[in-house]
Amino acid sequence: MTDSRQKIDIPRPAGKVLHRLHECGYEAYVVGGCVRDSVIGLTPDDWDITTSATPQQVRDAFRRTIDTGIEHGTVTVRMDGESVEVTTFRIDGDYADHRHPDNVSFTTSLEEDLKRRDFTINAMAYNDRDGLIDLFGGMEDLRQRVVRCVGDPRERFTEDALRIFRAVRFCAKLGYELDPATKEAAAAMAPSLAMVSAERIRTELEKLLVSPHPEMIRLAWECGITKVVLPEFDAEMEAVQNNAHHKITVGEHTIRTLMASEPERILRLTMLLHDTGKPLCQTRTPDGVFHYHGHAAPGAVVARQVLERLKYDKATERTVIQLVKNHSLYPELSDEGVRRAVVQIGEDLFPTFLKVKRADIGGQNQEVQARKFIYMDEVEAIYHRILERGDCLSLKTLAVTGDDLIAAGIPRGKRIGEILGMLFDRVLKDPSANEKDVLLAMALEKEV
Ligand code: ATP
Ligand code: MG
Repeated sequence: MTDSRQKIDIPRPAGKVLHRLHECGYEAYVVGGCVRDSVIGLTPDDWDITTSATPQQVRDAFRRTIDTGIEHGTVTVRMDGESVEVTTFRIDGDYADHRHPDNVSFTTSLEEDLKRRDFTINAMAYNDRDGLIDLFGGMEDLRQRVVRCVGDPRERFTEDALRIFRAVRFCAKLGYELDPATKEAAAAMAPSLAMVSAERIRTELEKLLVSPHPEMIRLAWECGITKVVLPEFDAEMEAVQNNAHHKITVGEHTIRTLMASEPERILRLTMLLHDTGKPLCQTRTPDGVFHYHGHAAPGAVVARQVLERLKYDKATERTVIQLVKNHSLYPELSDEGVRRAVVQIGEDLFPTFLKVKRADIGGQNQEVQARKFIYMDEVEAIYHRILERGDCLSLKTLAVTGDDLIAAGIPRGKRIGEILGMLFDRVLKDPSANEKDVLLAMALEKEV
C-alpha cells in the first residue's frame, strides 16, 4: 500500500542523497528503522537509504563515499559532514547456517528488498515523491502495537535466528507485544539462537537493556531465549526468595532493579548480573526464611563468565565485575566509613555504585525501601561533603610520595610501600593529617 498523505521530515543530508539519486534516474527511499521511528514520533538514530542504483552507481553519483559493506551492497555517502548509508535493493540468498545468507543478489525491485526485512514495522520505505510504501501492513501493526514477522515467522527465523531475539528487543524499544504467531515461532525456535555469534547477541541484549522497557527480558525468558543466551537469568527466575527484603524470585527482583535504574549501559548490565550469585548460595532456616550470605563474590565470578562469553571488552568487564562484587556493601555512616567505601569501589566508579545501590533498593519490598533510601541520602550527603572538602581519597593526593620518604632517609624497597599504605590509612581516618611535615614525622617515628 502506498500512502501519499503520510509525510516524513527527512534531515537535510539524507534528503540531498535521495534527491541526487533521483536526479540520476534511480529509485531511492529512506527505509527501515527511521521510517518506523518517524511515524510514531521518535527521533531516528540514523537514516538508511535503499536504492535501485548498484554500489558502483552510488559511488559514481557522489563525490565522497566510503565502501562500508560493499559485499552487502552498502556504500556510505559523506554529505554535509554526515554519513548516510546507502544500500542497493537486495535479495538474500539461502541461509544454510541460520545466520548469514549464502549470497546476496541485487535487484531493481523495492518489493523484494522490503520482503527480506525482519518485521512489518521495519519494512516500510518513504520518499517525498511516492509517499509511504507499506506492503506488509507495517502501519496497521504500529497502530496495534505489535511486532510481527514479514511473511511466515518460522521461515524468517530459520533464515536468521537472531531475528528471534530482535523481535523481543523491538518490543522492549517500543513497548509493543509480539504477534501471537511470531511469539509461537520464537518460542519454538529459540534453541537455534545457539548458532548466532556472541557479538550479534550482545548488540541486541544491550539494546534491550537500555530500552524504555527492560522488563521485556521477561518476555525473552518466556520465549526460551535467555535459556540459550543467558541461562544464568533462568536460574534466577527459578530461585524463590522469602525474607524481609523480598517476596519474589531473584529474577523478578532483578527485573525491578532494571526498571528502577536509568537507561545507562554499565548500570543496567550491572543490575542484570548483580544477583547471579544468589541461586548458588541459597540457605534456608527451619522457619522457611531464605538467606544468601556472601552472594556478591560468587556473583562476580558468574558475571565474569557471562561477560566473557558475550565477548565484552575488558574495560566493561572490569567495571561491571567491580560493581557486582561490591553491590552489597553498606558504607558506614561516617566520613571515614564513606571515604573507605570510595577507596574500595574506586573514585571514578563511586557515583555509579550509588546508583546501583538505589536501583537494588528500588527492586525490594516497599516496606523496607523508605528506610533504605533515607540511609542512601545520608551516604550521599557525606560523600558530597567529602568531595567539597577535597579529602584525600587516593595515594595520588597523599601529601608525601615514596621519593619524599627516600629523601628523608628511609631506605628504598618494600618498606616504602608499606609506610605509604599506613600513612594513607591514617589520612583516611583523619584528613587533617594530610600535611607533608606531619606525615613525614609520623613515618620517621615509625622507623626508629
Ligand atoms: P534501531 O533504531 O534500534 O537501530 P533499526 O530498525 O534501525 O532499529 P537495525 O538493526 O539498525 O534496526 O536495522 C536496520 C533495518 O535493517 C531494520 O529496520 C530492518 O529493516 C533491517 N534488518 C536489520 N537486521 C535484520 C535482520 N537480521 N533480518 C532482516 N532484516 C534486518
Ligand atoms: Mg538502526
